[in-house]
Amino acid sequence: MLRFFNTLTGKKQAFKPIKKSEVGMYTCGPTVYDYAHIGNYRTFLFEDILRRYLKYKGYKVTQVMNLTDVDDKIIKKCDEQKIGLKEFTEKYTKAFFEDLDALNIQRAEYYPRATEFIARMVEITNMLLKKRIAYKTEDGIYYKITRFKKYGKLSKVEVKSLEAGASGRMRTDEYAKENVQDFALWKYWTKEDGEVFWETELGKGRPGWHIECSAMSTHFLGEQFDIHTGGVDNMFPHHENEIAQSEAAFGKKFVNYWLHSEHLLVEGQKMSKSLGNFYTLRGLLAKGYHGQTIRYALMSAHYKQKLNFSFMSLDSSKNAIERLKEFVRRLDVAEGKQNPKITKITDKAKKNFEKAMDDDLEISKALAAVFELVNKVNKEIDKNGLNIDDSLELKKTMNEFDSVLGLGLLEKEELDEEIIKLAAQREEARKQKEFAKADRIREEIKKKGYIIDDTDKGPVLKRA
Ligand SMILES: [Zn+2]
Repeated sequence: MLRFFNTLTGKKQAFKPIKKSEVGMYTCGPTVYDYAHIGNYRTFLFEDILRRYLKYKGYKVTQVMNLTDVDDKIIKKCDEQKIGLKEFTEKYTKAFFEDLDALNIQRAEYYPRATEFIARMVEITNMLLKKRIAYKTEDGIYYKITRFKKYGKLSKVEVKSLEAGASGRMRTDEYAKENVQDFALWKYWTKEDGEVFWETELGKGRPGWHIECSAMSTHFLGEQFDIHTGGVDNMFPHHENEIAQSEAAFGKKFVNYWLHSEHLLVEGQKMSKSLGNFYTLRGLLAKGYHGQTIRYALMSAHYKQKLNFSFMSLDSSKNAIERLKEFVRRLDVAEGKQNPKITKITDKAKKNFEKAMDDDLEISKALAAVFELVNKVNKEIDKNGLNIDDSLELKKTMNEFDSVLGLGLLEKEELDEEIIKLAAQREEARKQKEFAKADRIREEIKKKGYIIDDTDKGPVLKRA
């Protein structure tokens, strides 16, 4: 039985989606104003593992990840660089998707951009105004948190302590709101915003950050849906505010399961530019680390534990993947009689893998189950060789594990298939006496790391 630790209830709970075999899942995405750092990718990888495991369990997953492409930081940078909002954010959006590919993170079903959902944000803000939960000031429209009785139910903050704390803070020439914790739904245009504004019935201006996620999640997933995820730093105030907006506007429970991933430490310290331990994914790739290695290092601890990232952890990740790949390569040699122990080992590994993942995605225990299989089967192969049916069963199992782990363990086979196709095309070209074409294909095959030996029994492919 699949169970998740639900931040909302503060305990592990059996997962029951609203529709029996479908899951709606919303994940807060990046603000596209810079290259994302590995702490961001830790969260996105946790969400990828969650998504993959839900699919492993047979659910149809609809995942939505927003792209925040308008906010204060973006507007400031556009102004500094004298560049349009769209041109500026497109650059980092493109980089973001390249990073996802490098880490083998599966694509969500939808990546809505905030700037494309302004109408929906206006609509929800209007609902909140009508219910007198939102109010207007001279600089914008704000959400009055004392009007939402359940405010704080996710993060367990108390509204009273927020108000008490407010008087002590640098209150507030900057904002004309009534309470320092009230938050902006709509910000009226000011000179600093330059070209960035929308003329709407709320006035000329732009949306606040929190309303984005309420607008886009409910647009795609409905007013109530199954899972909302994010990093722990988004829990308050961002997710708390999403709940307040959505539940006050639509009058029903917003999300059933809230999952939050913990911080990433680098060499035992908080990652920060001033400590010189701040890494983007691109920075690590440029140092020569493979995306799969970084993926393994960032995903192999439980998502609710602080993860300590280090260059040593990258090295051991590289070794771990190499061990798994070497094992898969061994499965290619098949001979001899069937070995009844193989099925037993496989069944046990699958059971342990699922038991671990069912228990709030205990990934390190799941990996331990995979390595136990590798060790035991390796011993069996040393003793008895490997029968073709056993080999196929093991490949199938490793493929199932890898559908969750996403390490590309069996990718070599896909490559082989492509090479085999190319080799067949070359053979055909030779038969047709199109030798220039045949040579061209041979070169292409060589580039992919294979050479062709033409023997009297026909061409034979070898690794270069
Ligand atoms: Zn969000």
